[in-house]
Amino acid sequence: MLEVEGLAKSFKGTVALHSVDLSIRRGEFFTLLGPSGSGKTTTLRLIAGFERPDSGSVRLDGRDVARLAPFKRDVNTVFQDYALFPHMSVAENIAYGLEAKRVAREERGKRVAEALRMVQLERFADRSPSALSGGQRQRVGLARAIVNRPRLLLLDEPLGALDLKLRQEMQLELKHIQEEIGITFLYVTHDQEEALSMSDRIAVFNDGRIEQIGSPSEVYEKPKSEFVAGFVGTSSLVERGGDRLVLRPEKVHIARSAEAFTGEGWHVETGRIAESVYLGLYTRHIVRLDAGETVVSVEQNAEGPASTLAAARGQPVTVAWRKA
Ligand code: ADP
Ligand code: MG
Repeated sequence: MLEVEGLAKSFKGTVALHSVDLSIRRGEFFTLLGPSGSGKTTTLRLIAGFERPDSGSVRLDGRDVARLAPFKRDVNTVFQDYALFPHMSVAENIAYGLEAKRVAREERGKRVAEALRMVQLERFADRSPSALSGGQRQRVGLARAIVNRPRLLLLDEPLGALDLKLRQEMQLELKHIQEEIGITFLYVTHDQEEALSMSDRIAVFNDGRIEQIGSPSEVYEKPKSEFVAGFVGTSSLVERGGDRLVLRPEKVHIARSAEAFTGEGWHVETGRIAESVYLGLYTRHIVRLDAGETVVSVEQNAEGPASTLAAARGQPVTVAWRKA
């Protein structure tokens, strides 16, 4: 439903976007993931119509909208600082866009009630935004954006201002709301865990370009570049027999002796523990291979002793991973 081709934008000689191509399906939860300054917001602003591209096209359901005003695009945007009207109640804030579009009063009431239900704020309809928590305000911002049923909703780091626990709750909730209303979401975040947990597909941005587009598991398990491997999850790079391997911590196994890795299919080496960090659910070991590189291994902590390997620094270990 959204086709972006060759989108490019510079600001006074600084290239923000080199040439971006994207193709997003109806109903998809699609995420732009990348470090700060990589061009995510610029891409969103070009799709919303807040900026004009230097070149390239933006097609919504086949229609080129790249030069249309934002309000003519059937696209809504949710920002991090949800900018609610302080002198209006929650319900009035949500109804505002419908009034502007001259939706009849009765229909307006119905749609506002439905939006309030979706974001679980029925009981707060008459409150002032100033009497809400950060998470509740973010929900009002979302309700306001979905109430006039845009074809496409753009969300620019909408959970960035929330603390970790609330953010994780809202991630699941947003995903559920998106599934329920069936609106296509184009979501921006620099948080790889957020991207992996919510998205149908992810585009990984680096320096004004897309390095890879794929499902969360494709991007995580088959990174196409060192940048993607390093940015999405933790990984170690080693070269063995002319092949460059991306080793994820959960694929690197360690034990006190080589006996643990008898049988087919293991690549076995030796190394020494450089550091072991206890993290509750698991322990992270940083291991210096005798061949020279450093790899990371995670060990899930069972009941009982935290880790049998979290020994002194320098402890010799056997390191193994499955051969491809
Ligand atoms: P992200 O959202 O991934 O953090 P942005 O799209 O905001 O990245 O920015 C991409 C690059 O473009 C950055 O180098 C940023 O400084 C630059 N940039 C973005 N907007 C402007 C602007 N209005 N004026 C000048 N430079 C800008
Ligand atoms: Mg940004």
